Amino acid sequence: NYEAARGYMIDKHEAMRARWEEASRETIKKTTKPCPSCHVPVEKNGGCMHMKCPRAQCRFEWCWNCGLEWNRTCMGDHWFD
Ligand SMILES: [Zn+2]
Ligand SMILES: [Zn+2]
Repeated sequence: NYEAARGYMIDKHEAMRARWEEASRETIKKTTKPCPSCHVPVEKNGGCMHMKCPRAQCRFEWCWNCGLEWNRTCMGDHWFD
């Protein structure tokens, strides 16, 4: 019957949307980390480990790999992936 079929379609749509949201949350987790100074989420820019906080009041420069202020070891060791 029509009502049952429509209910089924809505369920299917909801399930797909939930899966999509889950997947995009996973992507965000992998490509963003909080700034060690102000904790605002910062998106990783390609293979570069050198991160810079986008907040004008912060501008903290830090290492994606170590989660610490950007330093010479990071520059020599793991600037890029
Ligand atoms: Zn910051
Ligand atoms: Zn580092």
